[in-house]
Amino acid sequence: MRAKLELDPHEFLLRDSLGETLRALAHRADSKGLELAAHIAPNVPDALIGDSGRLRQIVVNLVGNAIKFTERGEVVVEVSLANSVGQLSNLPSSSAADASVIRATAENGIVPSITGHGENVPHEIELHFAVRDTGIGIAADKLDRIFNEFEQADGTTTRRFGGTGLGLAISRRLVRLMHGQVWVESEVGRGSRFHFSVRVGVQPRRHDADDSIPILLENLRVLVVDDNATNRRILEEMLKNWRMRPTVVAGADDALRELTESVASGEPFPLVLLDGHMPETDGFMLAEMIRNRPELLSSTLMMLTSGGQLGDVARCRSLGISAYLIKPVTQSDLFDKIVHVLDRSNVMPPSSSESPATIAMPRINLTKTPMRVLVVEDNIVNQRLAIRLLEKRGHSLALAGNGVEALEALEAAPFDAVLMDLQMPRMGGLEATAEIRRRENGTPRHTPIIAMTAHAMKGDREACLTAGMDAYLSKPIQADELYRTLEAFAPKADSNQPTKNDEIVSATTPSPSEPLIDWSAALKSVADDHELLHELIHLFLESLPQWLLDLRAAIERQDQPTAKRLAHTLKGSLRQFGAAATTKAQQLETAADESQFAEATTLFSELQAELDQLRPKLLERP
Ligand code: ADP
Repeated sequence: MRAKLELDPHEFLLRDSLGETLRALAHRADSKGLELAAHIAPNVPDALIGDSGRLRQIVVNLVGNAIKFTERGEVVVEVSLANSVGQLSNLPSSSAADASVIRATAENGIVPSITGHGENVPHEIELHFAVRDTGIGIAADKLDRIFNEFEQADGTTTRRFGGTGLGLAISRRLVRLMHGQVWVESEVGRGSRFHFSVRVGVQPRRHDADDSIPILLENLRVLVVDDNATNRRILEEMLKNWRMRPTVVAGADDALRELTESVASGEPFPLVLLDGHMPETDGFMLAEMIRNRPELLSSTLMMLTSGGQLGDVARCRSLGISAYLIKPVTQSDLFDKIVHVLDRSNVMPPSSSESPATIAMPRINLTKTPMRVLVVEDNIVNQRLAIRLLEKRGHSLALAGNGVEALEALEAAPFDAVLMDLQMPRMGGLEATAEIRRRENGTPRHTPIIAMTAHAMKGDREACLTAGMDAYLSKPIQADELYRTLEAFAPKADSNQPTKNDEIVSATTPSPSEPLIDWSAALKSVADDHELLHELIHLFLESLPQWLLDLRAAIERQDQPTAKRLAHTLKGSLRQFGAAATTKAQQLETAADESQFAEATTLFSELQAELDQLRPKLLERP
């Protein structure tokens, strides 16, 4: 007797739904030591209409079988648009008629054509699911029977693996209800690949849906360490989709080498994704090795593990790992977690006094003339500040970490204005500005460039002018000052747009004051945004150990430019918080500038002592 199968179509999100389904199976895979991975092609829409429950049933059945019949290796689910799968397009359609099961070789398998449904009907698409394993495989002469009810590939199957021989038959009925087909390719001893297609609706695009990629991720370097090649490929693709810059490696040795090289090249990885379970050195051991290397402290670590073993979370916490994800990692999961760990407001130290509800969010009026701004700045604290202030006001922006990147960005796209830091590794702001002006020479183009400088060194203003900058902002950046200066260059305000060099806007630098922190100055610089201030403080405290290590090393080896640059960075951040230690950092910068290394050493110790006092104060809310 056949149970009646009916569909109950509704709106669902494919990535979430598949992620949930696979998570339920992850434990089973992990207990056998199998990798379970999922890959949904980027062009597959997410918001669909269909019977997600029935779809889940099919996936559970196929993946469940794949796990059951595989002893080592991996089980991978891949989802793509049916007619975008190249290998499917040039196949004999005759075999497709009713042959939902056909035999194929592993390499260039004969599979039924599923492209015969005409062109893509708007709002309806055909999805192609493939579930592949590295298991026992199925003998060729059994392939055409396993979809029948109560059929198993061989008589010993029930004895060895249990089962009813019903799963695939039910799956086939469900797939047909969804106007699709199911078929299989397999090779004994090498594994199987089950395919099915289904037709689903696409939800009309919601206008409020925000699928923009946060600027935070753009161009961000990320190191992926995973021994499994499929996972590496999937992660690499996801990260590239978000315009991040992934480097993928298979093990701890390569990871440490990449990390060390990245620090040496001045472009450390802000984010490292570690696979928990790897042969020899596993992710946890590697995390510990990374944490024991002071020069690698600035990297945020995320752990991806399959089991969710008891104690993993505690281990992560003790190793300072920011997030923990259970594999198979879905795109939305990974995305949310990455944004979460990079957006430090989420890991703010708990407040000792005020409840979050009492924190005031300032109202900043949106600009009437949104601009596209290139922010060129190497200090992550200043970057965040600029991003937040500009975005709040309704401007869009791109980030460059130094002059070289700024030149690249300007080659790639026009900007309404550039906010340019002066001292940066590889190429500083003056040099970059000179080069930008050289390239503009003979063209009608003149991109307004606004210097952001700590204002300390005499002659900065002249140097900015000479290099071809248009305006001048003092750090710490003040919100109102920033908006006023920047928006004077808004493209629409043609008539009163300052011309080259004729208007230098300068802000006064608040003098650092006692006691240790001038909270009112600090808050003013962020337009009274308490949350932002704490985010910046947190970033600062996180970067501080690395800065100090580097600075001390630079003084010791009498590396004048590096010592000066680091002292300058430190000073800029301290001034941001209205910290009294700014003075000491300023003195240190001057000593470094003048190559007075003995004096710099003394000043460095004094600065360290001041910072020791400052640290706990910074964690108190104003
Ligand atoms: P069962 O409950 O017996 O697993 P199914 O209808 O799901 O019933 O599968 C039918 C038969 O197909 C299985 O008994 C097994 O012999 C074979 N089979 C299904 N999936 C796989 C796979 N991934 N690898 C090897 N054999 C498989």
